[in-house]
Amino acid sequence: MKVLDLRCANGHGFEGWFASDDDFMDQNGRGLIECPLCTDRVVSRMPSAPRLNLSGAREDAAPAPQAAPHAPPRAADLQAAWLQTVRTLMANTEDVGERFAEEARRIHYGEQPQRGIRGQATPQQRAELQDEGIETVAVPVPRGLDGPVQ
Ligand SMILES: [Zn+2]
Repeated sequence: MKVLDLRCANGHGFEGWFASDDDFMDQNGRGLIECPLCTDRVVSRMPSAPRLNLSGAREDAAPAPQAAPHAPPRAADLQAAWLQTVRTLMANTEDVGERFAEEARRIHYGEQPQRGIRGQATPQQRAELQDEGIETVAVPVPRGLDGPVQ
């Protein structure tokens, strides 16, 4: 089904349900559509893009379009949870800055006590650590969050 925004010659706007655009054209051509307010049969279709998009979602009745309105709050929740995770991570790790790769190796080879560290590493350094069996996790820290902790 398609919901079309229609308007009679007297300017009354109303909705009409049709199987397709052709169905509307056909019914309108035969004068079968009338305004519910004034029964005028000179009906034209209003160019209304947003409403047509809405009608598309109704037409499909698919789960995806229905879920769409919930997406923004969920994204916000995720971001809040992510920020919390980053804060926890930063509160429980030692910032070793540029020495990250070096410190990670020392801990891995038992030269330093086992502990959580964080710092900067280039993709190449991370690849080298990976080769040595040292797991690292790249965490994009939001700007401004790392300031007070250091
Ligand atoms: Zn009317």
